[in-house]
Amino acid sequence: MTLASRAILVVEDEPQIRRVLRTLLELERFRIIEAENAARGLTEARTHKPDLVIIDLGLPDRDGMAVITGIRSWSRVPIIVLSARSDESDKVAALEAGADDYVTKPFGVRELSARVQVALRHAASTGAAGATLAIGDWRIDLKARTARAADARELHLTPIEYRLLEVLGQHIGLVVTHRTLLLQVWGPGSAEQTHYLRVYMKQLRAKLEPDPARPRWLLTETGVGYRLAQHD
Ligand code: CA
Repeated sequence: MTLASRAILVVEDEPQIRRVLRTLLELERFRIIEAENAARGLTEARTHKPDLVIIDLGLPDRDGMAVITGIRSWSRVPIIVLSARSDESDKVAALEAGADDYVTKPFGVRELSARVQVALRHAASTGAAGATLAIGDWRIDLKARTARAADARELHLTPIEYRLLEVLGQHIGLVVTHRTLLLQVWGPGSAEQTHYLRVYMKQLRAKLEPDPARPRWLLTETGVGYRLAQHD
């Protein structure tokens, strides 16, 4: 499939933002379908079966959440949410309802474009984590559980650290909520223990990031979760 054939459905009531999105995404050779409310968004999603959907959470008729849940009842299409900066709990709720990622308004052109590419790439992959992650100087083999630099230096990571990297790696470039990480790494009894994550992410950054105080790979999404950034 070529990029030119891909369609993106934009569900957003503000004409200005629709226009910005259309201009930007058409430059990248996507075909754009627009919907100005939730009901229309659900109809267009069913009619056109787009390759990706961008949904504003604040819509005039129903909440954007209703569109996410509606689409998720029959489709795995990647969904990116547009959200206001302060709405951390809305972002978490949208992700838990099945959105793949979010972009905070006002968004930068590059940021949006990167999110779209990552979400499409993720949807095209098998969903399995790549066997190897590249973080700073380190090449981490998740199957063999080894971490080495190009100069053959080796790094010791604990089983929990490998497991965290594995879960983040399954969603590489996408945000992963605190709850998802806690459930998948520590299990159902630990879903609320966000301090585990703070401790382990700090350790991982100290081991992996060239400058742990300014992480480039293991990124914090305040109030929401963490993201393993992709740098091509
Ligand atoms: Ca709106």
